[in-house]
Amino acid sequence: MKQISTFGSSSYRISDLQLLRNADDDTTVAAILAPCPIMQLDAGEAVTESNRARLYILLRGALSVASDTRTGMADGTVSKILPGESVGEQSVLDEATNLSSITALEDSELLVVEADLVWQLIDESNGLARNLLRLLSFRIRAANAQLRRRQKLGEFYRQLSMIDGLTGLYNRAWLNDLLPTMVATAHASAAPLALIMIDLDHFKQFNDTHGHLAGDEALRVAAQVLSGALRPTDFAVRYGGEEMMVLLPDTSDKVAASVAERLCERMRQAQVFSDGRQALPHITASFGVAVLRPRQSEQDLIAAADAALYRAKEAGRNQVAAEVVAAPALPD
Ligand code: GH3
Ligand code: MG
Ligand code: MG
Repeated sequence: MKQISTFGSSSYRISDLQLLRNADDDTTVAAILAPCPIMQLDAGEAVTESNRARLYILLRGALSVASDTRTGMADGTVSKILPGESVGEQSVLDEATNLSSITALEDSELLVVEADLVWQLIDESNGLARNLLRLLSFRIRAANAQLRRRQKLGEFYRQLSMIDGLTGLYNRAWLNDLLPTMVATAHASAAPLALIMIDLDHFKQFNDTHGHLAGDEALRVAAQVLSGALRPTDFAVRYGGEEMMVLLPDTSDKVAASVAERLCERMRQAQVFSDGRQALPHITASFGVAVLRPRQSEQDLIAAADAALYRAKEAGRNQVAAEVVAAPALPD
């Protein structure tokens, strides 16, 4: 970066500078800008860091400005500056060193205005002060819009991390996040919350006989059976391995048991194909149904459904079992 002239001795005009457009008092402004150096940058060359805050106005060429990742914003945004546009006005106003890295995209010429001269310009020119406020307001809006886009993107990835990659069902992370809230809501509203625990039958044997890929396909089919049979307010979760779970808010034990029967029937009807062609033997699953009882935690609810599932397995698999609820003690 080397100085080639000053603004006063160059052929550039004040009207070339966006910040000074419509500056009503050109003679004062011209006097302040006259000694400011014009620096030349070759394509690819970076602006040498200065310890002082400065305003750079591009006169010719193009610049790339990468916001610094050491700042709190850590956004790493890159923007392109065209002739007439400026960079560094914010660092002048808050008296901080400009942490952006500025590089010439092509051979460029830059007007460098030191901070004290910018303040002098602000004092002397209403036009410049107005333009500066407008520019800063535009930058704040753009930064806010970007922040909103990032928040949306963050939410998208958060949601994605809650989905099981193989089956498309919610995963354990989702369950850990959401089940406590669902349980608290059910207790607060006294609405029943039902949970069905599902485990594919003899699935190890299915894998051993038909291969792991066919096993994966069977898991996908099982997941489709669940999600295809539920109301929009219900949730299907892959609990782990070949175990899945269905959560039914606002559902009594009777209704939950009939939902489980329907799922069990659809599971044994479902067809799994290997390589999308050859039909494989049907899969079956066992189902354990439980409903949240007063004062139960989410762990209690899962344990109750698990115990019911265990009984369905013991009774021969491919069937539904409901939790056994102790009958209330009879009054003497
Ligand atoms: P049970 O009827 O008692 O549940 O018998 P099971 O064979 O289904 O139970 P076990 O726990 O012995 O075996 C579960 C099998 O599920 C073993 C494991 O390889 C298989 N499995 C778990 N996750 C996956 C998966 O993501 N893909 C495939 N292909 N198989 C899986
Ligand atoms: Mg299992
Ligand atoms: Mg199993």
